[in-house]
Amino acid sequence: MSNPSGTLYVVATPIGNLGDMSPRAVQVLTDVDTIAAEDTRHTGRLLAHFGVRRPLLSLHEHNETQRVSRLLGLLEQGRSIALVSDAGTPLVNDPGYRIVRACHARSIRVVPVPGPCAAITALSAAGLPTDAFVFEGFLPAKRSARRRFLHARRQERRTLVFYESPRRLTEALEDLVELMGPGREATLARELTKKFETLRWGTLADLLEQVRGDESWRRGELVLLVHGREAGGEPALDEAVTAMLETLLGELPLNQAVRLGAALTGMNKNTLYAEALRLKSGKQAD
Ligand code: SAM
Repeated sequence: MSNPSGTLYVVATPIGNLGDMSPRAVQVLTDVDTIAAEDTRHTGRLLAHFGVRRPLLSLHEHNETQRVSRLLGLLEQGRSIALVSDAGTPLVNDPGYRIVRACHARSIRVVPVPGPCAAITALSAAGLPTDAFVFEGFLPAKRSARRRFLHARRQERRTLVFYESPRRLTEALEDLVELMGPGREATLARELTKKFETLRWGTLADLLEQVRGDESWRRGELVLLVHGREAGGEPALDEAVTAMLETLLGELPLNQAVRLGAALTGMNKNTLYAEALRLKSGKQAD
């Protein structure tokens, strides 16, 4: 490569469809001295598909700290390195932050080679506001931690973007319905750019119902996007309101419990009614 001081190229690769590999990405990968990859076998297959034959070096979350000095050594000798992850844009929930940061600290040139990213691809087709959004990465796996995490974000006005495992999708939607309200709009984007690509837009309650009734949501990769709280909109139900409603439902008929709950909290009756129905149906399922 032309830069004598060495350059780190941060190269995005497809998130499923190999047709999304950019010609520039192929060119950069062909020209660099070394490719640092999250999983060398996985990237080896991608490179073989595009006829690229360059030395590979592993850089994953468990060896990133040690690898940084080796990569810096190569860059300081004037070598060019491309950083790739298993899929999509490196550093977006993938390793690479430490090496990129270390390059800036040593004035080593860093060149992004843009391409697919699951979060941005999902946003582009979600039908939710995109003027401002927050990318939150993976939701916490444990229910209690996830609930705390969502509770802290229930007043967020920007569109929320999460990566989520299909194994935990139902639980995550249950928590979202409870903490952000059943009527909040959301989108599920599964297997983007692949054969079984599916996009579903609806209220959180609708999406939960669909996911509960369709086994295929237990498979594949997914992005979950949630509309931010609307300005002046109904505040999300918090745990205290849900607990109060549950107590009222234990003592009173549904309509009366909802009326009293609305009078006590000042919340919209329809929101409480939807929540009361959800609580009732949960009880019947137990
Ligand atoms: N660096 C990647 C990017 O740019 O999107 C993300 C890596 S992160 C470790 C992997 C997660 O991204 C998956 O668990 C899933 O939530 C999301 N993801 C990756 N590919 C996807 C796809 N084709 N469709 C939907 N979500 C995808």
